[in-house]
Amino acid sequence: MLINLTDVLTSEGKTEEQQVPIEMTDFSNGLEKYLILEKSLVDLKFSNIKKGKAQIDGKAKVVLKMSCDRCLKEVGEVIPLNFSRTVLAPDEITEGTDEEGDQTFMDGYQLNVEDLINDEILLGLPTKVLCKEDCKGICKQCGKNLNEGECGCDTFVPDPRMAVIKDIFNANKEV
Ligand SMILES: [Zn+2]
Ligand SMILES: [Zn+2]
Repeated sequence: MLINLTDVLTSEGKTEEQQVPIEMTDFSNGLEKYLILEKSLVDLKFSNIKKGKAQIDGKAKVVLKMSCDRCLKEVGEVIPLNFSRTVLAPDEITEGTDEEGDQTFMDGYQLNVEDLINDEILLGLPTKVLCKEDCKGICKQCGKNLNEGECGCDTFVPDPRMAVIKDIFNANKEV
């Protein structure tokens, strides 16, 4: 959806509020594509800061279908979006600067809501996804989901600290 911000960008002191739907049905971070399971409307507030400059405050929530980092089970990851961005009118932007790169979701005076939301989801993506805090993961040997019970594999991993002590012990013995 495109929203024309000409008024807000050019009229000093002007504010506007809008509630718009999110149209996209999935989100891609360039590597992976996630289905959007749920999404709220986006509450947007536009405020003129000075001539040619405006602030966009937004609030929304999306739920992405992601998988647990440990056991790969599918989870609905809630991504709350709360953002505040400053945008410039096209004639206020110095070409080739950061200003231009910061507002790729603007097309002239038009705000592309989908591009902005896409940007914000990217920033809000969790670095770790777990189906539950104490997910036991899957057995590295047989692949069983350990949340569903023990598999009986020998998963004894020697404590690395013990290995160090053993090395010291052996070193002493050689002397
Ligand atoms: Zn899990
Ligand atoms: Zn196993």
